[in-house]
Amino acid sequence: MRFDILTIFPGMFDSYCNESMVKRARAKKIIDIHIHDIRKFSTERHGKVDAIPYGGGPGMVMTPQPLYDAIMHAKTLNKGPVIYLSPRGKLLTHKKAQKLAQSKKNSKQKPGLILVCGRYEGIDQRVIDLCVDEELSIGKYVLTGGELAALVVLDAVSRFVPDFIGKHESTVEESYSEALGGKKEYPHYTRPALFMNLEVPEVLQSGHHAKIKEWRKNKLT
Ligand code: SAM
Repeated sequence: MRFDILTIFPGMFDSYCNESMVKRARAKKIIDIHIHDIRKFSTERHGKVDAIPYGGGPGMVMTPQPLYDAIMHAKTLNKGPVIYLSPRGKLLTHKKAQKLAQSKKNSKQKPGLILVCGRYEGIDQRVIDLCVDEELSIGKYVLTGGELAALVVLDAVSRFVPDFIGKHESTVEESYSEALGGKKEYPHYTRPALFMNLEVPEVLQSGHHAKIKEWRKNKLT
């Protein structure tokens, strides 16, 4: 799966995209991440990307030209939908992440997503009207910028890309999954059996698979 991320802070993606499972998946070409610096598309002096809002009010708004050009460039490389990370968008859910992992226009194409990170008060509405397919929020709160939201989408979606998750883990039986009826998962325990006077539930130590299954089922919330 291919991710093209548009931001004015490309350096923010360096550490996350070069560690742990994302690093491994990139090395194995399971996911492909391309970060684009929106400033580089600005035709204004010093790569200016913001201006004061029409109608007045506090803060700045991201101007349409650099963003529009950056999105058009990304669209030549990635046929997936253009998603603007925004607190006004639809809430990201387990199901939505699963669906986005299959974002492609036809069966011959690799799935892809173009993620647009806003800053300041947000982006000029005309960019949304002209080239955004969907607005997505990661929660009912306001972040300083879309970069963390883009990483959340990248991570949650990547888990549904075939082979992203190792053999010892699975997305099938997890919180919110169909297998758990959309419920939250049961608690986990590991060694030692006794820690700070708290013991692992006896049933989990019993080796009795049917009883363990039943206990876990009862612990779903
Ligand atoms: N003025 C906007 C409002 O009140 O809705 C908030 C703008 S916010 C300070 C700057 C950028 O952060 C947004 O353009 C968006 O890209 C990103 N952002 C903030 N909160 C977000 C959220 N909950 N989900 C996704 N992106 C978010």
